[in-house]
Amino acid sequence: MGIKMPKAYHKMKDQIVSIDIADKEMNGFLLCQTSKCRVPVIFVDAYKKRYADKTVMVAPYFRLASNDKPHLRECKYNTLGQIEAIAKDSDDNVLRAIEEGHYSFRLNVIDETLRTLNQLAKDESNSDESAPWVSMPPAKVYTNRGKLDSYLSTMQKIMKLRSLTETHDELREIISLQYGKQTIKWSRFYYTSDDFKKCYTYIKRNNVTHPLCLEGIIKEIAPPQEKFKFHVLKLRFPWVEPDNDKIINLIAVELVIQNDKVLSYIQSNSSFYNVAVYSKFYVNESKVHIKQNQEGTKKMRFLNIKGNLYHPKQIVLF
Ligand SMILES: [Zn+2]
Repeated sequence: MGIKMPKAYHKMKDQIVSIDIADKEMNGFLLCQTSKCRVPVIFVDAYKKRYADKTVMVAPYFRLASNDKPHLRECKYNTLGQIEAIAKDSDDNVLRAIEEGHYSFRLNVIDETLRTLNQLAKDESNSDESAPWVSMPPAKVYTNRGKLDSYLSTMQKIMKLRSLTETHDELREIISLQYGKQTIKWSRFYYTSDDFKKCYTYIKRNNVTHPLCLEGIIKEIAPPQEKFKFHVLKLRFPWVEPDNDKIINLIAVELVIQNDKVLSYIQSNSSFYNVAVYSKFYVNESKVHIKQNQEGTKKMRFLNIKGNLYHPKQIVLF
């Protein structure tokens, strides 16, 4: 159980090595860089990941050599220690300890916050142009902007932690996601690009009202169009095989950027292309597009997952 690390301590060299200069030969000599912790860690090499229209390198990192030797609780790479710190800073017990080593996160507060932001964006927009607004107004409008920022900040920290943990199930074991009286499974809440299809199906088949997190890589920020005044953040389509009718069903995740601060936040961090976002999402599918080229006929359909970004804290770039 640990957080991926960009640096490690090399005991033979007696110095900190960064991931850019590390290699597999160093395994056996690497320890956690936190001086009090120094548990054995290993180098995990970069690897190729295939998307529908591009192959991308996944960055290398250091991780724990063994779960039997976890990071010291005080070490900043200890997952539970980090959750403890997030809970301490969280307003109104949005994230709170319910027993030793176990926490509860109130997802409905994030839901209400997003609905409030949607309402505020609606109120501030004087345009008649159509936008894919979520129609349901918030039950409770948070008028305290500081509180609102704080709730989003807690959600952002959890999402960041999730994107950095060594394995997918670490947070699942520590944090329960409460949505009113319901408990939402982590597998229904946080999706990497490998699971975008599952996410699409989940939203399509269920009346999903809770927010979701999606993690992928940025494909582009599409500029506003004549009939649509917003920038749109588009994620890269995961790789898919054609279905039985030889149709390629591309999962298109798109987030409408409803606030200029979100846009400048992404643009000023353009060296990062991995992204995790949370929003309320809805889905629809396009008609089948037929393309002719030298190799023959290509049939494609877009399975769209759409959300809105109102606040920079809805995003983690890494
Ligand atoms: Zn450590």
